[in-house]
Amino acid sequence: MNLVYYGDERLSTPAQPITEIDEEVRRLAQAMLATMYERKGLGLAAPQVGVSKRLVVIDTGTGPMALVNPEIVEHGSEEEPGEEGCLSLPEVYLILNRYKWVKVRGLNLENQVVEFEAQGLLARVIQHELDHLNGLVTVDRVDFTQRELIRSKLKRLARQMRKRG
Ligand code: ZN
Repeated sequence: MNLVYYGDERLSTPAQPITEIDEEVRRLAQAMLATMYERKGLGLAAPQVGVSKRLVVIDTGTGPMALVNPEIVEHGSEEEPGEEGCLSLPEVYLILNRYKWVKVRGLNLENQVVEFEAQGLLARVIQHELDHLNGLVTVDRVDFTQRELIRSKLKRLARQMRKRG
């Protein structure tokens, strides 16, 4: 699948809830997983392939997972900083604070409710992907100083976007 890059308004638009998990949603999840593995990402959200649906796929090394309409229903108070890249922002790595511990609820592709706790890398990836569903990317979460440091990279990305589009 083609990826959507920073500067595209589809990345800054909140995604729509999925009302029915049908064959189309399952096919989309499969295609997203294939794209994620091909690009060596740890997670991918539907808006990143231009689809405004609340669907994410994740694999932090424990196998593929697809979550429909995922939500963080609980989180600890502690945050920790960590470096994050994003397939929609090539070559841009930023330090972001994320909750160390989260409890997630969503639906799997069989339309069953799944609820689980996550910490460390998985917790970070989930928070990153859920941001995408809410129209946020890493750049939106960092302070002015960090954004200044990557300003030229962002400009270059925007230029490439225009050329392509
Ligand atoms: Zn991302």
